[in-house]
Amino acid sequence: MKQCINCMTRLPRKELADIAWCSLCAPCRQVAADQMKLLHDRPGGAEVQIYQCGWCGTERSCAPGFQTRCLVCLDDRSVPDPAVQRIAARLDLTGTWRENSELIAATTVKIRLAKYEQAGWTVLATDVHGLPWTGFRWLTKSHGTWGRNDESGEVALLRKRSRPEEAGLLYLVRYGKVLKFGRGQADRVHGHVKYGAVPVLVLSGGRQEVAVARDRLKRLHRSEMVSQRTPVDLFAVLPDGEDVTDQFRTS
Ligand SMILES: [Zn+2]
Ligand SMILES: [Zn+2]
Repeated sequence: MKQCINCMTRLPRKELADIAWCSLCAPCRQVAADQMKLLHDRPGGAEVQIYQCGWCGTERSCAPGFQTRCLVCLDDRSVPDPAVQRIAARLDLTGTWRENSELIAATTVKIRLAKYEQAGWTVLATDVHGLPWTGFRWLTKSHGTWGRNDESGEVALLRKRSRPEEAGLLYLVRYGKVLKFGRGQADRVHGHVKYGAVPVLVLSGGRQEVAVARDRLKRLHRSEMVSQRTPVDLFAVLPDGEDVTDQFRTS
């Protein structure tokens, strides 16, 4: 016996089929059968299909030939996942369990997309293993994050770049009701702003100091996504940081 991840019904293995990395029963597959619209089929010959959710507009990447579904939207057959509800409680989210779950999933997708922002490329879509169901318990499989080169039009699998610059940024941004901290270069913070985040505080510092500071924050708060009421003190972990927040404010 196995369980449908969406409605939690226990069924023999042969009555479940894998959709978006997870096992679903036939009625749950049916509910979302028309949900995704194919936007790009193997663009430029790349081994990927880019879909868009007809319910919420979120895009996702998928290997050709698979049925998939939205990274964010649950449906009328979905049942609450206790692990996601615990995350929602920790983030002080006040919506229904489904609203909270979808908000966490949508924010997780935006944070993932922001990681791949880089000059000269338009990020098209990503794929987060485990969403829309299992919040942060994402596993490692993914069809990847894909982007289009602004000049050549080439569609390619994007990689997070490690760069030689000495300076780094420690940042705190707010996605609606949720705070997110992290480290990276300017592209990363610009990416978050592009996906709707408001910069709260951005500190510039030595690459190594910033890395250590981020690790201290992560140990302290256990997750990079925290409640908007959580006091996240960047100066406490990076006392010599230079405040460069103004460079990222849009107005
Ligand atoms: Zn089901
Ligand atoms: Zn959706």
